Amino acid sequence: MKPLSENHDLWTIERLISWTSRFFGQKGIDSPRLDAELLLAHVMGKQRIYLYTHYDEIVNPEELARYKELIRRRIAGVCTAALTGEKDFMGLTFHVGSQVLIPRPDTETWVEKMVQRFRTDELYVADLGTGSGAVLISFLYYCRSCRGVGVDLSPEALKTAEENGRLLKVDDRIQWKLGDYLEPLGDDAFDGILTNPPYIAREEMAALSEEVRHEPVMALDGGPDGLDFYRKLAMEGWKSLKSGGFLAAEIGEKQTEDVLKLLKESGRFGGFEVIQDLSGADRAIFCKRM
Ligand code: GLN
Repeated sequence: MKPLSENHDLWTIERLISWTSRFFGQKGIDSPRLDAELLLAHVMGKQRIYLYTHYDEIVNPEELARYKELIRRRIAGVCTAALTGEKDFMGLTFHVGSQVLIPRPDTETWVEKMVQRFRTDELYVADLGTGSGAVLISFLYYCRSCRGVGVDLSPEALKTAEENGRLLKVDDRIQWKLGDYLEPLGDDAFDGILTNPPYIAREEMAALSEEVRHEPVMALDGGPDGLDFYRKLAMEGWKSLKSGGFLAAEIGEKQTEDVLKLLKESGRFGGFEVIQDLSGADRAIFCKRM
């Protein structure tokens, strides 16, 4: 394959996408074609669908130069969402800065279940460690009678979340609070807590893939054994829930037993369910305050 820089042919959208897909494929990138398309649409300032309807359009030299730079950074291990500043989650587009965890398809699986379950209810929910706001915003987007509070320790994350809430027009039903996990909830009693806490054990942090290492440590580091935030939920989280209120917490795939044990030992929760992700791995625990 001739490198892009030595190839002085005219680059149509079609040729450029097919060249890049093959190149990304050779470099071991998971979704080579999708990434090629997302990056090209981004430099051209268009939706992805535009590429399909303009296959023969020639990409101008300035866009081509910016595209090459993005290809270079993608190969260096920066994920596509970080390069475009956007990520789709639950069918909605979220802005993602370098200060937030990039929403994952694994998270969609349990949020989708919650939406199906509570779609017509009138609930007051809290999202702890909201990051880009993806969990809370998508939940409220589809559950139109619910309201919520989104909490994050990072002011930059909250700014991103606020912006996303505004863009997706659910901001009139959300209050954003800066602070440490449960602490900003004060004496409020909620119908539900949704949370994707940091859950990577500290010693595993160093072994994370190149892509994850570009994300904020604060969103990933769950303390020495990765369970710090589940301990907080078990010891104090129930205080912020009404009796019968639910907790839906994402977990790492090998944490099911440990997290269940912590929550059960608190004696405050019952009705446990384990929710799997697309690969069949355990991904969230759902339970209710007794
Ligand atoms: N699922 C994320 C990962 O793959 C971790 C997210 C988290 O700690 N909440 O690294």
